[in-house]
Amino acid sequence: MKTKLPVTKNERLDATIIDLTYQGMGVAKIEDYPLFISGALPGEEVKIHVMKVGKKFGYAKVIKWYKKSPERVEVTGQEYTQTGIAPLQHLSYAGQLAFKKKQVVNLLQKSHMEHIEVADVLGMDKPYNYRNKAQVPAREYEGELTTGFFRRNSHTFIPLEDSLIQAEKINEIIQKVTAVLRKYHVAPYDEQAHTGVIRNIMVRWGFYSKEAMVVLVTRTKRIPQKAEIVAEIKEACPEVVSIVQNINAAQTNVIMGERNIILAGKEAIKDTLNGLTFEISANSFYQVNPLQTEKLYQKVVEYAGLTGKETVIDAYCGIGTISLNLAQAAKKVYGVEVVPEAIEDAKKNAKLNKLDNVVFEVGKAETKMAEWQSQGMKPDVIVVDPPRKGLDEQFINSAVETAPNKIVYVSCNPATLVRDIQRFEELGYQVTQPILPVDQFPQTPHVECVALLTKK
Ligand code: SAH
Repeated sequence: MKTKLPVTKNERLDATIIDLTYQGMGVAKIEDYPLFISGALPGEEVKIHVMKVGKKFGYAKVIKWYKKSPERVEVTGQEYTQTGIAPLQHLSYAGQLAFKKKQVVNLLQKSHMEHIEVADVLGMDKPYNYRNKAQVPAREYEGELTTGFFRRNSHTFIPLEDSLIQAEKINEIIQKVTAVLRKYHVAPYDEQAHTGVIRNIMVRWGFYSKEAMVVLVTRTKRIPQKAEIVAEIKEACPEVVSIVQNINAAQTNVIMGERNIILAGKEAIKDTLNGLTFEISANSFYQVNPLQTEKLYQKVVEYAGLTGKETVIDAYCGIGTISLNLAQAAKKVYGVEVVPEAIEDAKKNAKLNKLDNVVFEVGKAETKMAEWQSQGMKPDVIVVDPPRKGLDEQFINSAVETAPNKIVYVSCNPATLVRDIQRFEELGYQVTQPILPVDQFPQTPHVECVALLTKK
């Protein structure tokens, strides 16, 4: 039997926005049935058009505002919302920071962990043009190779430059590379037909080093007139010290393929964080907001409370950025990371910074942690920085078995952070400092946090 929903598709009705989802959409409830409404803010009174109704929730769009939020700021570039580059740009920066803190507070409440405090979000003075990396699709648009973004949850290509959140230099380089590719009539990728050469242009920019890397992600190994193209990119962009071809022949949404060919210059660029130098190669993870990353890592070091005598594990270490920040004040640091190229970078980085008290190993953190535990390793501090899905059960169990005094948890997803803290609490740890959210992603709903757990 079908239960009757309180709204129907294409219906128009008045609503009050009561909340924002973690994706930054406004929420209205019609007789307890939630409707998600892009671009609407809490406290706003609106007329909406119902677009889609599902069993448990639906989607609507605003057709008229009766009352706007005092936190609303007017924006001109609607495409930045449509493409998901800056889904929160219409909310004041103070409003964004309050929203991010509230998300963490709400998640703790839902799990009955109100005893854990959350600090105010550490924000940026200028919350724009902070990204050091862009990877933009190249497609045919009005007969020419054009870079842009896809409309959220769709394959609709929108020609666009992001001059809002990525570094200005990156824009400049993308435009120059695009001009060279056009000049040589390099065919852009066609998703439907799976033809063409250039799929994506990736640019990385060292905020401190002023070195740039260009990665041409191609479907084919062959790039017609490759030598001329590479020479012209070098000529046009003197900051580019590394040009890499990444081949991705698969019919997939995944951007990068497995194979890299160095077309010119070095295989990695350098950048600096907290005075340490890092080599970053094409496939390695590197935090996208360098200014905020420095603050985040300083907090990790502070929470670790090192005196020079400690053994430390840095799990999910990437290119060893946190590991080396810790190594300066620890006896020994062990880093583990699943991407082999990142570990190669990490080893080079230890040498580059003359830190010889660090060991880096390739592997899954959960497997390596179990191995270290069975070998009887006794770390004083364990730092973790997992991807969105959080920590594996096996990792948590092995980590707790080794009985570190402190666990410092860096998280890019507060939902899994709260879940994992709950497990650690059951196993004899407690949160001894307020959870600190650090705004790594202004204008977007993403929340990064650092938490300190101490053995009871
Ligand atoms: N701490 C680093 C990297 C954090 S991002 C920094 O601040 O730069 C998370 C990292 O975890 C990525 O480098 C990713 O490749 C790695 N990773 C993902 N799953 C993993 C797993 N199961 N075991 C070890 N590393 C993993």
